[in-house]
Formats: sequence, C-alpha cells, structure tokens
Amino acid sequence: MTPARATRVRRVPARGRYDRAAVDAVLDSGLVAHVAFADGGLPYCIPMLYARVEDRVLVHGSSASRLMRTLASGADACLTVTLVHGLVLARSAFEHSASYESVMLFGRFATVDAEAAREQAFRSFTDALVPGRWEEVRKPDRKELKATVILSLEIAEASVKLRSGPPDDDGSDDALLDVWAGEIPFMTGYAAPVPSPGLREGIPLAPSVDALLQDRRPVADP
Ligand SMILES: Cc1cc2nc3c(=O)[nH]c(=O)nc-3n(C[C@H](O)[C@H](O)[C@H](O)COP(=O)(O)OP(=O)(O)OC[C@H]3O[C@@H](n4cnc5c(N)ncnc54)[C@H](O)[C@@H]3O)c2cc1C
Repeated sequence: MTPARATRVRRVPARGRYDRAAVDAVLDSGLVAHVAFADGGLPYCIPMLYARVEDRVLVHGSSASRLMRTLASGADACLTVTLVHGLVLARSAFEHSASYESVMLFGRFATVDAEAAREQAFRSFTDALVPGRWEEVRKPDRKELKATVILSLEIAEASVKLRSGPPDDDGSDDALLDVWAGEIPFMTGYAAPVPSPGLREGIPLAPSVDALLQDRRPVADP
C-alpha cells in the first residue's frame, strides 16, 4: 500500500510500515480495537472486539447502540490496534519508551447484510477469541442475529508503526552515567481456567481452550 496523506507516519518515519503483511500481522495478534468517530461534532473513541477476515476488519454490536448506528450511517472512522511488548528504560528520562506495534486504519464501515456473511462473521468473532470455539458452542439464533449489527471496514488506508530494541542512549554521553538501562519485556499468557459457577459437574475443559492454554502458557521466569 502506498501511504496516502492521512496514513503517513510523521514522527520517526523510519518506524512506519505500509505493507499488508505488516498490517495483517498486528491485526491478527490483537484483541481489542479502538474505533474513533465524530458524533454531533464531538470525538469518541470506543474499545471493541474485532476480527480480520481477508481484506476487511469486522466489528459487531447491538443494533441499539449509538456506536453502531453512527458507524453504520457511513461516518468517517479510524480504527487502531496496539500491542505493547515491553518497557524501554534509558539513562535519561527523555529517552524512556516502550516496545510496541500499532496499526491504524481509516475509512467508512459498511453493514454486512447477507445471511451467510453474517453467520461467517459470527464464526470469525468467536474463533478470534479462541480458535476452534465456534464448533463447540450453540450458534446464534434468529433473535440474536437480529439484535446484532455487523460492520466491516476495508483495509485500504492503513499504517503500522513499530518500535523495538534497546534505549536510544547507548551511544550517547548518558551511557557514562551509573544508571541501569535496558528492556523489560512483557510476558502474556493465560492462567488456570475458572469454571463458571453454574457449570454442571463432569463437563470437561473444551478442546479449544485446552489448545489455547498449550499455545499461550505463560513463560516461566528465567
Ligand atoms: C475490551 C472491550 C471489548 C468490547 N467489545 C465490544 C464489541 O465487540 N461490541 C460492542 O458493541 N461493544 C463492545 N464493548 C463495549 C463498548 O466499548 C461500548 O461500551 C458499547 O459499544 C456501548 O456503546 P454505546 O453506543 O451504547 O455507547 P455510547 O452511547 O457511545 O456511550 C455513551 C458514553 O458512555 C461512555 N462509554 C461507552 N463505552 C465506554 C467504555 N467502553 N468505557 C468507558 N466509557 C464508555 C462514554 O462516556 C460514552 O460517551 C467492548 C468494551 C471493551 C472494554
């Protein structure tokens, strides 16, 4: 993708990426998107779950919500997803930072109307949380489908910004200071599942959850 005016990274442009592989990598690793839009001349920025399906990002919500009504009306929107990988501690306060990847999309959402596409979207939302979960659960009924709006945003105007590596002051005069500097990576993972209080006796952990825990077991301290 060629960066358009709205998506060109201006501060530290070398950290900007515009290729689809970079965009998809961040979208596919995230869980929560922040969706910004204006309503009545005021800005709002709302956290939501989402799923990427090929060239589109899908979101869903109540057909009664202001958020979904505004986005469905074709309002200009901006969607961001941020992954924070760790803290970056320098000798100087000024050079402190974080390791991160973030993606920003611009555009207008379209409503997903076709029944098959809507069911496929529900599958994507469910499997975006836990791969394979869709096959294990009751599918949405007609009433649930009716109460839910599904919107899709084409991945067209998009930018990625990445920051990784040690603090920027290793080669500066500040490196002579007796101050610890370096990176503190974040660990992410899942702890032991907590059964729902109403879960009937004898129901084993779902295979999808078991697989998730195998994949994302927290890394032990070195
Ligand atoms: C991790 C996460 C995932 C979510 N996933 C979804 C999703 O997939 N679909 C969905 O529809 N909703 C989701 N929500 C809820 C979403 O953030 C909104 O609260 C919800 O959509 C209500 O929208 P609304 O149009 O009724 O609210 P609005 O009428 O737009 O909100 C009115 C006011 O309520 C306050 N408000 C609304 N939402 C929030 C919030 N999240 N935090 C703090 N204040 C708030 C603000 O002051 C806002 O101006 C999620 C929230 C979180 C935190």
